Amino acid sequence: MTISVENTQVDHNIHISSSINAVSNDICKNVTDEKISFGLSICANCGKESDEVKNTCNKCKQVKYCNAACKKQHRQKHKKQCEEHVRLAKAKLHDEKLFRQPPPPEDCQICFQRLPMLSGSTKTMACCGKTICSGCCYAPVYDNQGNEVAEEKCAFCRSLCPAYEEITELNLKRVETGDATATYNQGMYYFRGTRGFQQDTDKGLEMWRRAGELGYASGYFSVGVAYHTGEGGVEVDMKKAYHYYELAAMKGSALARANLGCAERDAGNWDRAFKHWMIAVRDGHEYSLKYIRDFYLDGHATKEVYTKALQSYQEYLGEIKSQQRDEAAAAHDDCRYY
Ligand SMILES: [Zn+2]
Ligand SMILES: [Zn+2]
Ligand SMILES: [Zn+2]
Ligand SMILES: [Zn+2]
Repeated sequence: MTISVENTQVDHNIHISSSINAVSNDICKNVTDEKISFGLSICANCGKESDEVKNTCNKCKQVKYCNAACKKQHRQKHKKQCEEHVRLAKAKLHDEKLFRQPPPPEDCQICFQRLPMLSGSTKTMACCGKTICSGCCYAPVYDNQGNEVAEEKCAFCRSLCPAYEEITELNLKRVETGDATATYNQGMYYFRGTRGFQQDTDKGLEMWRRAGELGYASGYFSVGVAYHTGEGGVEVDMKKAYHYYELAAMKGSALARANLGCAERDAGNWDRAFKHWMIAVRDGHEYSLKYIRDFYLDGHATKEVYTKALQSYQEYLGEIKSQQRDEAAAAHDDCRYY
């Protein structure tokens, strides 16, 4: 049995203090229904049960011995099991990180509302490098006297949009300061060979990886897509693709998350597919909601799961909806934000 405060109290009527929650799993494993043997361990080699059995396998930390001699004697026998313990522990740790809801993206720098996940609904300004929402982007800009400014000026820094050549220069300067979005853009220039840069897909991938490290989830996502689709002549490598999708998903890319969900579904791991899609839905990925709905309609998911996904999407909408964004969306097709 595994110990948790609840089941111990209910099943065995033992009141344990909350500090017992902190005891290691090794001890919990040695607790039998009849005997609460906190502190007692069994030697994996000779079977001796005592509180003196403290010599833990330093690799897997899962088995204990009375002494170094028992440990040595058991080494060969334990080797395979030990490797398996280590592998499982690593996989468990990885999954704990992977299936955590990532923190929401930074808010719009002007209205301080959550930025929508749809890429067209946010804009990174070439002048100041700030990322703002379409609502703020298209709202009228006023000068200090409160008069509407006639020419198109940046809603954040109020300067005119820089000239085409100047944009590239400004972007390069930002790359040098470690700006994640600028690093991503630079990767795009290299990958596609645009804005006067010689096409160099390796360099493009490298910049995208760096953007990912700097916190820009789309950086990792684009690397994943390149390995997935072979875009730009990159050799298709699904193992690498999923590795980068995972990195992107953990940084908050709902698109990468949705792809991971599809891969798990195709491998028959529905439970893992659902987990990915649920996280993607909470971050605004509407299509993941559709995946969950399809599974529900086919009888593979309960209504509860589907209802939870729906609620989760509503919560997301509650965080991103605004009148200003609605107005921008009504006026410009590319400003649709959900
Ligand atoms: Zn022993
Ligand atoms: Zn071991
Ligand atoms: Zn805004
Ligand atoms: Zn600006």
